Amino acid sequence: MKSNKIAEILRNEGNSSYKERSFNDALIKYNESLCFSEVDSEHLGLAYANRSAICLELKKFEKCLKNIKLARLNNYPKSSQEVLDTREKKCLELAKKSKGNEGKKFFRLSYKPNKAIPYIIDGLEMRTNDKYGRHVITNKDLHVGDIVAIEKPFCSILLTHSNFVDVDKNNKFLRCAYCLKSNRFELVPCQGCCSAMFCPSCQQEAFESFHKYECPVMDKLLTSGSVHIALKIFFIALSAFKGSIKELQTFMNGIDKMDKNFSIFDFNISQPDNVKSYLRYMNTLTRSDGKFSIAQHEEILENHPELKEIYESNKDFIKEFLHRQCQTNDHYFHGIFGQKISSNDSRAYQDLQQSIGSGWYPFCSLFNHSCASNILRIYIDGKIALIVTRFIPSGSQLFDCYKVSFAKHSKDERQAKLLKQFNFKCDCEACEFNYPMPPHIPIKNAKLIKLAKKIEDECAQQQNINGKSFHECCKQMDANYKDFPSLELVWLQKSFAYLLLLQARHESENN
Ligand SMILES: [Zn+2]
Ligand SMILES: [Zn+2]
Ligand SMILES: [Zn+2]
Repeated sequence: MKSNKIAEILRNEGNSSYKERSFNDALIKYNESLCFSEVDSEHLGLAYANRSAICLELKKFEKCLKNIKLARLNNYPKSSQEVLDTREKKCLELAKKSKGNEGKKFFRLSYKPNKAIPYIIDGLEMRTNDKYGRHVITNKDLHVGDIVAIEKPFCSILLTHSNFVDVDKNNKFLRCAYCLKSNRFELVPCQGCCSAMFCPSCQQEAFESFHKYECPVMDKLLTSGSVHIALKIFFIALSAFKGSIKELQTFMNGIDKMDKNFSIFDFNISQPDNVKSYLRYMNTLTRSDGKFSIAQHEEILENHPELKEIYESNKDFIKEFLHRQCQTNDHYFHGIFGQKISSNDSRAYQDLQQSIGSGWYPFCSLFNHSCASNILRIYIDGKIALIVTRFIPSGSQLFDCYKVSFAKHSKDERQAKLLKQFNFKCDCEACEFNYPMPPHIPIKNAKLIKLAKKIEDECAQQQNINGKSFHECCKQMDANYKDFPSLELVWLQKSFAYLLLLQARHESENN
């Protein structure tokens, strides 16, 4: 429950951290204080004002001005207006002197977008055959470094607690509960609960499409993991039918009879009723045949102030909906990673990223696996960017890597893992031709070994991706693709992936 008393305590804790110049800790406390402030109280204004001070310290001038505006709009005490006026003046002066360092975003599509699915490039097509089932091919040559998709999940949850992975409990005060972006200097609190913050541009849509049902039970949901996911899809579905369970039921009964081949390439994402298309598409996916307990889901609905009646009188349908959802989610929901904000300058991959949530990416889940894949996923603030890692000639299939690459795992290890986790015997090029693992892969171009060494050394100094190294890396990997697998190309691929992760962190921190 909202409480000005708690809001004030939290703000004071933030002020102590601020004095010690621990700005990230102070920011978390101010955001938490915003969540606890009662609606229309001056505590909102005070916390926004304090957040503007952090922004000024960190030279985030535009964000500073936005927070000053929010403070004024949220009852910042008239008697202290002068503090804000002075800060605003100082911010405007400093902003004038600084040469806006908001560079162009690196993660953008490399070609013009597909008209119906604007987050993928034009030129990707779906094919179906006996061997691969549904898969994606390109009808144009793709080059190393090309960004072919930047997909938002259809449904995702933010994790603040997990029994399985390491997560930051403060995520709810650092990331938008809708788009998962680490928009920590601009988040605004939900007016109902104390456990959700949103980007100003996300708040209304989030509320209308699911959070109005989430809000009264948010704390329970945040500690419920997969239960949260299934219920969230139910909330999204119910909202798409304006809360009418009867209409949702009629629709769900109807889609069972519809075309089983319906795919993401058949619908227009930009249409307003796209939730119905997603539900229809979801229904065509192969579900896990496991039995799932939905006791926890039921308990939440039975005690839900607005949904308990709907639940009581439509139990069979809702239970069936949730059970099917659990079976689908088991196959299609995957962990989402984010950049660790205050991580040290470690070079280890695992130190750059951390689990932040779970979600369903309908397009990105269309790809088959290869132990020598030709695309790479990079997570940026809840979205997945798909980047080409090897030259892909027109007409060829794009392959993702389900965690086991020949550069890191032996053939036996890969085959065993894929069989156990994904239930198939891998016959990719690396498995078929038994590619050796580094350092036993032959060198084919000694000159490139020097380059690979040089780029790896530069990675150690955390050079920006816009530097020459990245472009040189792409160019050489592309031009020498026929040498694959070779030690130098595998080495370059490693630095290539590392530089992309660094760039993702850089963009995330500049939010
Ligand atoms: Zn957002
Ligand atoms: Zn809420
Ligand atoms: Zn394989």
